[in-house]
Amino acid sequence: MFNKVLVANRGEIAIRAMRACRELGVPTVAVYSEADKNAIFAKYADDAYPIGPAPSSQSYLNMDVIIDVAKKSGADGIHPGYGFLSENAVFAKKCEENEITFIGPPSNVIEQMGSKIAARTAMIKAGVPVVPGTEKPIEDVEEAVEIADSIGYPVIIKASAGGGGIGMKIVYSKDEFGHALTMIKSVAKSAFGDSTVFIEKYVDEPRHIEFQILADKHGNVVYVSDRECSIQRRHQKLIEEAPSPIMTPELREEMGGTAIKAAKAIGYENAGTVEFLYSKGEYYFLEVNTRLQVEHTITELVTGIDLAKDQMHIACGDRLPYSQEDIKINGWAIECRINAEDPLNDFAPSPGKIRRYRSAGGPGVRIDSGVHVGYTISPYYDSMISKLSVWGRDREEAIARMERALYEYVVIGVTTNIPFHKAVLRHEAFRSGDLTTHFIDDYNIIDEVKNIVKDDAEKGATLASALDNCNQKVAAVSAAIGAYVSAAKDQAK
Ligand code: ADP
Repeated sequence: MFNKVLVANRGEIAIRAMRACRELGVPTVAVYSEADKNAIFAKYADDAYPIGPAPSSQSYLNMDVIIDVAKKSGADGIHPGYGFLSENAVFAKKCEENEITFIGPPSNVIEQMGSKIAARTAMIKAGVPVVPGTEKPIEDVEEAVEIADSIGYPVIIKASAGGGGIGMKIVYSKDEFGHALTMIKSVAKSAFGDSTVFIEKYVDEPRHIEFQILADKHGNVVYVSDRECSIQRRHQKLIEEAPSPIMTPELREEMGGTAIKAAKAIGYENAGTVEFLYSKGEYYFLEVNTRLQVEHTITELVTGIDLAKDQMHIACGDRLPYSQEDIKINGWAIECRINAEDPLNDFAPSPGKIRRYRSAGGPGVRIDSGVHVGYTISPYYDSMISKLSVWGRDREEAIARMERALYEYVVIGVTTNIPFHKAVLRHEAFRSGDLTTHFIDDYNIIDEVKNIVKDDAEKGATLASALDNCNQKVAAVSAAIGAYVSAAKDQAK
C-alpha cells in the first residue's frame, strides 16, 4: 500500500478519496487554491499545501506545482479524483516519470481514450458496436454533407477532444452544416485546444447506459454494475440510478461483456466507465471515462464494493479480490446531483454564500459533500453542493426515499436544483422508468419546477410569518416578564 497519497482535487471528491485512504491507514496530502483555504477537504487531510490563486489554470491544473508538493511531502501516490487532471495523459506521464503512482490507468490509455476518434477506431477494431459515423476528422462542409447523406439525418458533430457535454451540435439538415461546423470547430479549439471534429448518427430516443469496470494489472477485468444516466441537461447528467430500469440479466451480461471486451482491447487498468447509448433494443459504444465517475456512489450502494479503495489496491498491483460471479446487485440506488444552479434560468450556475444548510439523513441516505454553513460556492469551479444518493430494496422504495430526502434538504443563500429533482421524481414517466436523454423537454419538466418553486415559496412564507408571529408573542411575553420583575424590584426597595 502507499506511504502517503496526495489528492489532486477539491470538494467532495477530494474528501471521498481521502476517506478511502483513511480506512486503509494511508496519510493524505491536500492541495488547495486561495479560494479553498477554509474548505473542509483541506482540513480533512493530514497535511495541506497552498498551490496558487483561485483560477484552476493557476492551481488545480498546475501539474509541476502539484508534482513538487507530492515530492516535498513524501507522497508516493496521487489520486486525481474527477475533472481537473484526472484524464490528462501528460500529467499521468509526469507522475510516471517522477516515480509517483498515478491512481488511474496508464498514460497511453488515457491519451487514446481522450480522443473520441481514436476510441471509436479502437472499438471498431475490437468488434464493439459504435454509433454509425466516421473515423476520420471532418475538414469541410462538402465532406460533412456527403457523410450525413450516407448515414441519414439528424447527425451530431462532435469535438474529438470534447468532454463534459461541450463541443457537440445536432444537425437536422444540410443547410445547417456551414454554420454548425464552423461553430463546433471554434468551440473545440478554444475549450480543448484541438479543432478536430467528426460526425455520428444522432441516435433516436437515446438512453445513456454505462458500465462501471475495474481492471487489475494482471489482466482481470470485471463489470461492477450498470447505471442509467439519461436524465441530463445540456448533455450532462443530473440524476443517475443503478441498475438501469430496462436492464435484464441477459442484457446486463451482454453489455457488461462488451464493456469488458472494450477494456481489454485497450489494455485498461484501474476503475473506469464504458458508456453506451441504448435505443430500441440496440446499443452503441459512446466513450470510456478513464477515472472515477461522479455517480460511482450508486454502484457502491448496490454492490457494497468500495471503488475508491479498490482503485488504490489496483494501483499498488493487488489482484481483484472477486470474480464476475461474486458481484451481485442488491436493491436499487439513485443519485441526485444537488447543484447551486437555477433550473428556471436554463440551469445557470448560482454561486454565492450558503446561509443555512441542513442535509438529508435517516435510513438509506448517503451524502457526499464538501460544504458547510458560511461556505461560498465559487464561480471558479463547478457548482456542486452535494451528491445525494439513496438506497432502497427496490426502485419504488429508492424513489420514495429520494423524495423524502429531498423534502428534508434545506439550502438557503443560493438557488439550487432541488425543485427540479422533486419535479422529475414525482413525474409518472420517471416512475415508470420511461426515460430518454430528452426527458426534460419531452415532459415539460420546467413547468412543473415552476409550480414546485411557487409552492415551496408559499410554504416558506407561511413558515416565516408563523415564526414572526411567534417571535412577536415571545417578545410581548418577555416584555411583560421584564415589567413584572422591575415592578417587583421597586416594591422590594
Ligand atoms: P462528453 O464526453 O462530452 O460527456 P459523450 O460522447 O459522452 O460526451 O456524450 C454525452 C451525452 O451526449 C450522451 O449521454 C447523450 O445524451 C448525448 N449524445 C452523444 N452522442 C450522441 C449521439 N450520437 N446520439 C444521441 N445523443 C448523443
